[in-house]
Amino acid sequence: MNSILNYIDGSLIAPLNGKTLDVVNPANGEIYAQVPDSDLDDLDRAVSAASKAFLSWSATSANERSKILVTIAEMIEANLDQLAEAESLDNGKPIWLAKSVDIPRASANFRFFGQAITQFATEAHEMSDAINYTLRQPLGVVGTISPWNLPLYLFTWKIAPALATGNTVIAKPSEVTPMSAFLLSQICIEAGLPRGVLNIIHGKGEQIGAEITKHQEVKAISFTGSTRVGKSIARVASPMFKKISLEMGGKNPNIIFADCNYEKMLDTTIRSSFANQGQICLCGSRIFVEVPLYEKFKKDFVERTRNLKVGHPSDDSTQIGAIVSKPHYDKILSYINLAREEGGTILTGGQAVRLKDYENGFYIQPTIIEGLPIHCRTNQEEIFGPVVTITPFDHEEEALQFANNTEYGLSCTLWTENISRANRMARRLQCGIIWINTWLHRDLRTPFGGVKSSGVGREGGLEALRFFTEAKNVCIQY
Ligand code: NAD
Repeated sequence: MNSILNYIDGSLIAPLNGKTLDVVNPANGEIYAQVPDSDLDDLDRAVSAASKAFLSWSATSANERSKILVTIAEMIEANLDQLAEAESLDNGKPIWLAKSVDIPRASANFRFFGQAITQFATEAHEMSDAINYTLRQPLGVVGTISPWNLPLYLFTWKIAPALATGNTVIAKPSEVTPMSAFLLSQICIEAGLPRGVLNIIHGKGEQIGAEITKHQEVKAISFTGSTRVGKSIARVASPMFKKISLEMGGKNPNIIFADCNYEKMLDTTIRSSFANQGQICLCGSRIFVEVPLYEKFKKDFVERTRNLKVGHPSDDSTQIGAIVSKPHYDKILSYINLAREEGGTILTGGQAVRLKDYENGFYIQPTIIEGLPIHCRTNQEEIFGPVVTITPFDHEEEALQFANNTEYGLSCTLWTENISRANRMARRLQCGIIWINTWLHRDLRTPFGGVKSSGVGREGGLEALRFFTEAKNVCIQY
């Protein structure tokens, strides 16, 4: 059995209470590791180490911090195979996907923010008799809390800018997928990251996650996860006047006009619907298609989806791997049943898959549903699995109404060759990220985040560097 350890004050240690949680391999349903079930005593140790380390880390030059972050990026790259296999084992995603997306992006996060900090500048505001300049100083000890869907990718997306700007960090990965964060702690030790600068604490969200959120010494919380948990974090952290950044759930629309580049749209829509088993916050789960194209799209989309191979994550030909956990698998299946009850027609999929030799794994067919009203629960609530609905629309205005008719507002994908329409709609779509004729095309310098119940604040580029610093104005009269 693999034992995962906390990373506190530069050392790998077991939780003080000796308690652990099971970690399950979703591809076969078997327990394969134990992860610390940490509590406040572990956190207090970590916070005290982080507070001490802050004194020196915040005084370290940007170049010095950059050097260490870039070394970590290189070591992630050098350990690509091991990290990708660990990620797949924990999460159920195909290994090829972890190798081509998750782990390279984790490395890119460290490299990007390692380089960005050497270019980070502040402003000056001149008056006729004085000059103001802005200092951007690190906050102190900050907390990061991340989900299971892109484990190392999102874990490092928060840690890298926090460290680059001179903060010290208490980081909590998802208890469902803790392995790659554990491997990262080993990399940080080897890379020479000074002790206490990054502390990784494992355990249950409602326990150790909640303790991090309410800890007096933790000055900011950067969270990615569900809207339900984001709300609970806001309830606790806001009255304490902590800085918070919340990246939460979505129910993203995918709007397809008849004038789109059809083949590119179809290829991309398969990916934007089912990549990572549909467990990407940016997946488009409500697909709206202009009436003249609807029947053709439906036929081709259903046929392509039916041919997707559900398989074991280690098989290179697998397109749909395992769902991350039994509770999540049950939740997705219950939503497919709900769609039936709400009057939807399952065009393809809709069933669990019993994979030969892996009968206890958590596999679900990619599923397309039609015939549901916009207001029904299936079209309003986040399912976060390989399940999409398709709905025809008559004109631009109707597509906008359908798309915006949700409490969420993370991203939208728009398919049209009409540039005026694309720009017109981009202004009126209520979401933080809009892709036109593409999907998940990421430039790490751009602002990332959602509106409405999908998010508060922005990550990425300067937004992240600003979030993890406090602006202080200094005014000098001549
Ligand atoms: P989750 O909210 O259940 O858990 C996320 C993290 O929060 C985990 O580390 C968990 O242990 C922790 N947590 C749970 N309860 C807590 C509490 N009371 N206090 C503090 N921390 C707590 O989310 P999940 O199921 O791991 O991930 C799926 C969700 O994440 C989906 O809703 C998805 O849309 C969202 N997500 C959003 C983005 C984005 O960028 N907007 C990206 C990826 C995933």
